[in-house]
Amino acid sequence: MARVWNFSAGPAALPTPVLERARAELLELGASGMSVMEMSHRSAEFVALKREVERKLRAAAGIPDSHRVLFLQGGASLQFAMVPINLLGGRSASYAHTGHWGSKAIEEAKRIGRVSLATDSKANKFTTVAPVSEWSVDAEAAYLHYTPNETIAGVEFHAVPAVAAPLVADLSSSILSRPFDFAAHALTYAGAQKNMGPAGLTVVVLREDALRAAPPGTASMLDYRAHLAAPDGMLNTPPTYSVYLLGLTLDWLAEQGGVAAMAERNAAKAAALYAYIDGSGYYRNPVDPAWRSRMNVPFMIGSGSASDLALEAGFLAGCKAAGLANLEGHRSVGGMRASLYNAMPMAGVAALIDYMREFARNHG
Ligand code: PMP
Repeated sequence: MARVWNFSAGPAALPTPVLERARAELLELGASGMSVMEMSHRSAEFVALKREVERKLRAAAGIPDSHRVLFLQGGASLQFAMVPINLLGGRSASYAHTGHWGSKAIEEAKRIGRVSLATDSKANKFTTVAPVSEWSVDAEAAYLHYTPNETIAGVEFHAVPAVAAPLVADLSSSILSRPFDFAAHALTYAGAQKNMGPAGLTVVVLREDALRAAPPGTASMLDYRAHLAAPDGMLNTPPTYSVYLLGLTLDWLAEQGGVAAMAERNAAKAAALYAYIDGSGYYRNPVDPAWRSRMNVPFMIGSGSASDLALEAGFLAGCKAAGLANLEGHRSVGGMRASLYNAMPMAGVAALIDYMREFARNHG
C-alpha cells in the first residue's frame, strides 16, 4: 500500500499515526471489550472519552471557560441556519461576503431574517477583501458573520476584524491551524473534516449569553439551548467515532508541539508554495498577497485560454503517477487547488513543487 500526498480540500488527509492508532484500537477501545463504534453514547466509557476530547480541544485551541463546546452533526451548513435561528432574536445581521461559503451562509440567513452585507468582494471575484475600516456594519446588527478562511478562492483573514458587533466565524477550514482568539467571538463553528478528523462532526464554540430566543416552533435539534441543557451536551446520539478520532488528532497535534508549532509549519508550507508559484512565470495565484490563505492555495496555468485549460487537464492527469491526489480546483473556479491542512507535511509540498517544476519545464 502506498499512501499518496492528498491535497483534498475536505474531507482531507488525516495524519498517518492517527489512522494507525485508530486501526490498532478498532476492535477494542481500552479494556471495554468493544469498539468505540459499538458503545452507547451514554456509557461511562464514552462519556469519559467525550469529556476528555473536549478538555483536549479546549487546551489545544485555547477555548476560554466563558464558552461552551458542542459536538453536533449536520456540518457547517446546518450552522448557517442555526446561527440566525438562535442569535437574531428579531434583529438583523451583518455578513462579510468574502467567498463561496460566506454566500451560502448569507443565503441561509436570509431565509430566517434580515441580512445586510458589511462588505462584498464578489466584484473582485473574491481575490481580496476591503479594509475592515471601510466596512459598513449595521449598528443594530445582532452579530457580524465572517469566514476566516474561504476554502474555495483561498482567501484568509490574518487578523480578527475589529467591529463592535458580536462576532460569529465559520472556522471550518482554519480551526487548529493557527492560534485563534475564541474569547473575541460570540460563536464559532467548524466541520471536523479538514483539520480535526473525519466528516460527521461539527464543533460549535459559543458564549451562552449571545443566544436569543429562537422563533416559536423551532425544533429542539435546531436550538443550541436544548443541546446545552442535555446531559453532557448530548441531546441525541453524537457522531461517536468522529469524536473519538478528534481525540486522536488532538493527541497527535500535541505531539507536534500544538497549534503554535503547527502555525509556523503551515506558514512555511504556504510560503514555499506561493514563492514557487510567483517565481515560476508559468503558474499564477490570483489572490491579493495580503489575503492569501495558508490552508488552500488555488493556482492556474496561463489565463484560461483553451490551450491553458488543456495544459491544466494534462497537469491533473499526470498527478497520479507522481503520487499526488485531489489537486482539482473547485468546480466553480476550475484550475488547481492544493489544500495544506495540518496533516500535510512540508515533504508533500516539496513533492508538489517538484512536480509543478517538472511539468512547467516539459510544457512551458
Ligand atoms: N464552510 C467552509 C469554510 C467550508 O470549507 C465548508 C466545506 N468545504 C463548509 C462551510 C460546508 O461544510 P459542510 O459540508 O460540513 O456543511
